[in-house]
Amino acid sequence: MQHAPKQQQASPARKSRRPRPAAQDTAAEVSRIASAPRSPSRGRHTGAGTEIAGVPITSERRVIDPASGIHKLDLVRYYARAAPRLLRHLAGRPVSVVRAPRGLSGDMFFQRHNGRPPIPWVTEHEDLDPGHPPLITIDTRAALIGAVQMDVIELHTWNARATDIERPDRVVFDLDPDPALGWDRMIEAAEMTRALLHDLGLESFCKTSGGKGLHVVVPLVPQADWEDAKAFARAVAQHLAATAPTQITATMGPEHRRKRIFVDYLRNARGASTAVAYGVRARSGMGISVPISWAELGNTTGGAQWTLHNIDERLTALARTDPWAGYASARQQITAELTIGLEGSGK
Ligand code: ATP
Ligand code: MN
Repeated sequence: MQHAPKQQQASPARKSRRPRPAAQDTAAEVSRIASAPRSPSRGRHTGAGTEIAGVPITSERRVIDPASGIHKLDLVRYYARAAPRLLRHLAGRPVSVVRAPRGLSGDMFFQRHNGRPPIPWVTEHEDLDPGHPPLITIDTRAALIGAVQMDVIELHTWNARATDIERPDRVVFDLDPDPALGWDRMIEAAEMTRALLHDLGLESFCKTSGGKGLHVVVPLVPQADWEDAKAFARAVAQHLAATAPTQITATMGPEHRRKRIFVDYLRNARGASTAVAYGVRARSGMGISVPISWAELGNTTGGAQWTLHNIDERLTALARTDPWAGYASARQQITAELTIGLEGSGK
């Protein structure tokens, strides 16, 4: 592999380097699987292994989650099936990835840029994060499957699009519970968040995180900048905490979260990211972040209610009704007046 000698800020401990041109990597992948074993699959068989979305899949029988026996090919197939929905939330947004070359029991790497080995099918953006290797967007089915082929499990998107990077098009509230709390308290906190946003004239959308909590997402017409978006999100979280101090905190740290839900607004800074809707989590059991309608919230049971094991039924149900049907058409903005109003409301 011939990399240019440029360092990357990527994984916790390792230095990675700038990727080679994509075409060479693709060729390398194809040649590398020449000896891959045959295996039954619904994807197209090349002479050597399975090909999905034009991407040759290697090590398809590798176990990713020893607890549940999930194989790499199970993950690839899920992402292929979810791609039409997932790409609506993924395409065009800078994305950070969690890669697990040896599955959940091995080292995992959180990468904000195209890391080592580079993912060849993605789109690189050289200019968005000066001084670093390119940020990436995953814009096509082939890029998505290519990323999974290159050991990506989690996908975390920015709150803005690469084409309009200084103006976020959403605000995200990450609701994290004290593990000792029952799930009904999480439902209450999410409802309170929704109600406050509604009072401010903002429609919001909810999804499970695939982990312990919920994410509440407010789509925006890109207009305000990062500072304004973060100030607004902070004001909302602090207002919630002031209104329901026994239930909600806006302050990070387990001592503040005791018996409370932490409404984390810090996901709204430039460069921060949140697990994408329909994305899989690199945690035992392999939870999936799944959009729900507000009407469904009361029947949910946890942040990892849906996993790679039971997602098929949910995807089938979602083909009939989209819980986020109004997301793309929401036309709403945050203003300095909204933030000032929240800050000045005494609570
Ligand atoms: P939960 O519901 O369990 O809280 P979550 O998705 O809300 O799940 P985390 O998985 O803890 O929360 O991730 C929090 C955020 O921190 C991610 O969206 C990502 O932007 C960032 N992050 C996650 N892992 C790393 C890491 N290893 N290094 C840096 N940032 C990370
Ligand atoms: Mn969370």
